[in-house]
Amino acid sequence: MVYDALVVGNGIAGSCTALFLARQGKSVCLVTKASSLDETNTARAQGGIVFRGEGDTTDLLLGDILRASAFSSCRKSARILARLGPMLVRRFLIEELRVPFERKKDGAWDLFQEGAHSLRRILHVKDYTGKAIQERLNEAVLKERNITLLSGTFVVELITSLHLADFAFRYNPPECFGAYVLRGNEVIPIFAHATVLATGGLNAIFRHSSGGPWCTGDGFALAWRAQATLVNMEYIQFHPTLLYSPGEPYAFLISEAVRGEGAVLLDREGKPFLERFHPLGNLAPRDVVARAIFQTMKEEGIPHVFLDLSPLGAEKIHTAFPEIFEELRRRGFDATRDPIPVVPGAHFACGGVLSDSWGRTTVRRLYAVGEVACTGVHGTNRLASTSLLEGLVFAFRAARSIASSEPPLVPPPLLPFPEQVGEPPEECLLAEFRRTVQETMWEYVGLEREKAGLFRALDRLLEVKRSVLSLRQRYGISAPLKELENMVDTALLVTRAALQNPLSFGTPLTRSGRAPFSPGGSQDGQS
Ligand SMILES: Cc1cc2nc3c(=O)[nH]c(=O)nc-3n(C[C@H](O)[C@H](O)[C@H](O)COP(=O)(O)OP(=O)(O)OC[C@H]3O[C@@H](n4cnc5c(N)ncnc54)[C@H](O)[C@@H]3O)c2cc1C
Repeated sequence: MVYDALVVGNGIAGSCTALFLARQGKSVCLVTKASSLDETNTARAQGGIVFRGEGDTTDLLLGDILRASAFSSCRKSARILARLGPMLVRRFLIEELRVPFERKKDGAWDLFQEGAHSLRRILHVKDYTGKAIQERLNEAVLKERNITLLSGTFVVELITSLHLADFAFRYNPPECFGAYVLRGNEVIPIFAHATVLATGGLNAIFRHSSGGPWCTGDGFALAWRAQATLVNMEYIQFHPTLLYSPGEPYAFLISEAVRGEGAVLLDREGKPFLERFHPLGNLAPRDVVARAIFQTMKEEGIPHVFLDLSPLGAEKIHTAFPEIFEELRRRGFDATRDPIPVVPGAHFACGGVLSDSWGRTTVRRLYAVGEVACTGVHGTNRLASTSLLEGLVFAFRAARSIASSEPPLVPPPLLPFPEQVGEPPEECLLAEFRRTVQETMWEYVGLEREKAGLFRALDRLLEVKRSVLSLRQRYGISAPLKELENMVDTALLVTRAALQNPLSFGTPLTRSGRAPFSPGGSQDGQS
């Protein structure tokens, strides 16, 4: 069978694409490597999703997106997001899926304020917005007859002309015919008129990171191996406030919305320090805040700074941030009283697989939506709470494009898949290589970078890549080994992009990098 669309990933981007297509009568195969539909970063989003505030306009939101990116965003994509986004939130998330966003007593929306937004415009469901959205998406997907859902199904490789028996295809521009997936002990091809990568981000390639362990950058590596163009890979956004938890690979994130509501960052002496770095202080754009924390940690020789939530008052903490309060309590902190130790960590890939405003990549029949894509909305730095919105908006546009313009595919004969499936290598071996990738990226390709360090990272990563290739020969392929390979390939893409970029711009600070020419403003003039 050939599906109208094969969608990889069931977060907001993948689920919405699948639902929009299915509702137009298209057959969709939706695959996710997770066994549970809740294992997505969408389900982890806390702060919320951009909507319309009082007196808000498309131009006001567009202006905030552009300023947060220091005018490095793609204006066309950012305008589409600002124009379509709030309308789709209303029609699809509120009216159709009935996501229970908070309202005030008088029935008006209870909107959050976040850093670098001109006004309150963030819709939320307490502090577990993503979980609420994911639940409603899952219900809708499970009810939809046009969607064939394959969970626990790992996409190993996209099917490209290199996999076809007919050599004539090799001389055409790159094209995608579907994907090879791992089911049990077999690699099987799934053909589709269009394939959509909605595989999320890459946080897990760094030592300190938000998000789940599944965030291994698979989509970037798959697209790269399929000859797609990737851009802005060096622009990783670091979230300023992850709970400092030494020894744990994935840290608990404390939403920036708490600072929007009055929480304050403090140095070792318990003094606020952000005003020194930006006139907006605790509401400065997140890249400024992350770097300010990093610099303060270095100046004071401390492994973390503190976040004081007490100015919110106990009632606000309990009603607006119950999950954060509970999680901190489980870890021995009383958020109404205790300053919480926090560090910055990798949080979001601003770059990715180059895709146009319809989600089309540079490979025929291949689309990318959500965090894996680079539509250019975020430029070098993302405005808070715009990524769920980006997933929704470009899912809508990609579904439209697929439904109206993708020509039918006749499944071409394939060469035999070149590798055997095998048992994964011992977990301790894989863990050691994962740690090497994460430590290397944190040390040399993290918040502060310099050329010598980037070259050192390249050497180390290439060594790991060599080891992975020999493990593949010895053990055959398996999901854990392929995930490790994807981590290394993605880490290499980020490192090479950082090396090729002479500018110091966006979240990471590149020592000896030049400030960019910026037609609309400078990095310092972000807000
Ligand atoms: C802690 C946290 C808080 C956040 N808070 C906010 C917020 O408040 N507002 C906001 O706008 N954004 C927030 N973000 C960012 C936002 O959650 C993500 O950018 C967004 O959810 C990404 O959605 P997605 O659909 O692209 O990917 P995801 O939701 O991450 O889904 C990716 C899917 O791809 C699947 N997949 C990956 N690789 C493979 C493979 N090889 N084979 C098969 N399946 C695969 C995964 O199993 C998963 O189903 C937050 C992120 C984190 C981590």
